[in-house]
Amino acid sequence: MLKLENITAGYEKVPVIQGINIEFEKGKIAAVIGPNGSGKSTMLKAIVNLCEISQGTVYLKGRRKEDMGNREFAKQVSYLSQSHTLGAITVGRMVLHGRFPYLSYPRRYSKEDYAYCKRAMEKVGILPLQDKKLEELSGGQRQKVYLAMALAGETDVFLLDEPTTYLDIHYQLELLQLMKQLKEEGKTVVTVLHDLDYAMDVSDSIAVMNQGKIVKIGTPEEIQESHVIDEVFQVKAQSFTDEAGRKHFYFEK
Ligand code: ADP
Repeated sequence: MLKLENITAGYEKVPVIQGINIEFEKGKIAAVIGPNGSGKSTMLKAIVNLCEISQGTVYLKGRRKEDMGNREFAKQVSYLSQSHTLGAITVGRMVLHGRFPYLSYPRRYSKEDYAYCKRAMEKVGILPLQDKKLEELSGGQRQKVYLAMALAGETDVFLLDEPTTYLDIHYQLELLQLMKQLKEEGKTVVTVLHDLDYAMDVSDSIAVMNQGKIVKIGTPEEIQESHVIDEVFQVKAQSFTDEAGRKHFYFEK
């Protein structure tokens, strides 16, 4: 679905990630993990033109990204950033921005656009907040708005950079459910996650990054067995299985 071939990218001509090769499959959740500064966000940014790619190619459904228009690409790939600018704008208007790639002359949102936004706001539980201004919301509520904006695009691929940021524990778990639901709908989800237990739980595959490179790609089981987490994070990964048969991970120094 989405493939990165030998990608080197960074900022102001300084490469941050190097020789990245990875393919994200349709109907699967891929987690990207790694220590702070290892290049996880940069990898997602490279896909959506938010940093400079100096080498390599991004393919979407077998087509080179540079052969597609930005708008066409944006209709298929949405991106939840880690940092956001705050305008004096209402929740409803902000979520409508997720429909931006669909706007054509005379630049008016259609009934369909509004319906998609309503659905997205319902999905993340912020419909009652739609007339509130973003600046009046808590960090967690805002995070849901940005998430709804990404969902409103109804794209095939979702790139989520730390989507659990600011969310309370209840909604963190709901978010994992939401990702699983997107997967059931045949969407491709790529998510940077700090919580390794969540990554192990939700993903079909995990890419481990360190110092700008992908050092391992595998299923959660393969990643656990490889001890790569221990090496990269300098911790000891331990696990136990709960009564429901789910494996949980915790870490010791
Ligand atoms: P991670 O997501 O794994 O924490 P990042 O991709 O955010 O890592 O950062 C990787 C490296 O790129 C860091 O050394 C960081 O300082 C640098 N970096 C990130 N964003 C920028 C930027 N906008 N300009 C210059 N350097 C940046």
